[in-house]
Amino acid sequence: MQLYWGDIHNHCDISYGFGGLENALLAARGQLDFCAITGHATWHDIHDWRPEIDFLIGFHRRGFGRLAEQWAEVKATIERADQPGRFVTLQSYEAHSRQYGDHHVLSPSADLAIIEAPSPQALLAQVDVPAIIVPHHVAYVPGYRGIAWDSFDPQLSPIVEVYSKHGSGMSDDSPYPYLHTMGARDGRNTVRAGLAHGKRFGFAASTDHHAGYPGSYGDGRTAVLADALTREDIWSALLAARTYAVTGDRIACAFAVDDHPFGSQIQVGAHRHIHLAVHGCDALDRVTVFKNNRPWRVIGGHELGASQSGPYKVRIELGWGDKQGGYSWDAEARVSDGTILGIETCFRGQSVLAPTPDNDHPSDINALDNRILAQGNDTVAWHCITFKNPSTLHPATAALILEIDGDAKTCIEVLANGRSLRASVGELLAYSQGMHMDEWSSECVLLHRAVPRSALLCERDWYDDPETPCDAYDVEVRQHNLQMAWVSPIYCGSV
Ligand SMILES: [Zn+2]
Repeated sequence: MQLYWGDIHNHCDISYGFGGLENALLAARGQLDFCAITGHATWHDIHDWRPEIDFLIGFHRRGFGRLAEQWAEVKATIERADQPGRFVTLQSYEAHSRQYGDHHVLSPSADLAIIEAPSPQALLAQVDVPAIIVPHHVAYVPGYRGIAWDSFDPQLSPIVEVYSKHGSGMSDDSPYPYLHTMGARDGRNTVRAGLAHGKRFGFAASTDHHAGYPGSYGDGRTAVLADALTREDIWSALLAARTYAVTGDRIACAFAVDDHPFGSQIQVGAHRHIHLAVHGCDALDRVTVFKNNRPWRVIGGHELGASQSGPYKVRIELGWGDKQGGYSWDAEARVSDGTILGIETCFRGQSVLAPTPDNDHPSDINALDNRILAQGNDTVAWHCITFKNPSTLHPATAALILEIDGDAKTCIEVLANGRSLRASVGELLAYSQGMHMDEWSSECVLLHRAVPRSALLCERDWYDDPETPCDAYDVEVRQHNLQMAWVSPIYCGSV
């Protein structure tokens, strides 16, 4: 089986988001293998009208109405975008709830009907095609759009969205706290709390983007382990929770107990064989295997990275500056005395959280044409648009990660809009190097530090015995750049 990458919860102007549907599909195809585009559809317990929330209720209801009107057309467009072997699509819509928290319905069927119901159970009971319902931003305060773990049913929800633009819902001390106007992260509603209640489910992440840029870097992506890139195989992987969540970087993880991969629910005896292999995109800072919600094995970055030999990963990041309207880049990287083994894109769309009385955005808000233009054994050319960072703690940059086979003498030259920055791998093993495009407040190119293979890889095997009638093992990966992966638990019942 192979890893595939997707975004199964994100929005555009088919409901109350922004940006066109076709452009959203184009952005998704640019850096994902599979995608669902989600229409905001229902809210069964929306507040009774009060003047101070008139705007909020109004934009939700108008959005639901817009989706209902064009639902057949939306589904047909998403259906047409499905290309087995290249790009897989699924149908999706979202149901808000104060009582049960927000969920999105996912289905492989274009006959999926929009149904308004008082609970996730009641909703799926009326859906007559294959479907699951995925809780998201679970850690909001109970009764305030957070999950209700008491009524969570893993038969209906084999996976839970643990990370998105809202932040990480893994635990109340996880990086990426919730900062949206919807409020704080409540420990009783986190993913760890659900596992502690004995609920069994897999981990997923999606952007919850609201301006039509599925896969926008840093906002969440789901990895699935599937036989092939077909709707049938991606769907089977989601049902089996053969999934894991990443914040953005495509951290490759293999994790198994007695050869059963993440997401499995198995019966297994003593001396169970636990295998873990991680291949990061930046230096690994810490890899933690959790057993029954507690750290069981911890590998620190200081135990890795002894050898400075290749292959290397080198990140080329573009952005900064002060141009609100965006800065267009035409860039090329040339590698001498080395070979490009792989390229990963970290492109972002502009972010809009929700409508406000004074914001409106054109349907082409994220028609950025971010893409690889050409690539060879030692060159890659690309185009992207970046924007001024919205705050000093919130990046809006774009990057490419090159995997380069070579040695300390291998050189990387970046040509960007007529300027050139060149450094050897040997120099980049010691320091990152930046270059500005102009005088004050201008855009910048950053060649990140080169990361040798030994700092990217972590492979371990252990043997373990039962501790409880059903032991759950899961993995958290943290890189130096704070990009993370959360690998679905393997549930081991004792025989
Ligand atoms: Zn949503």
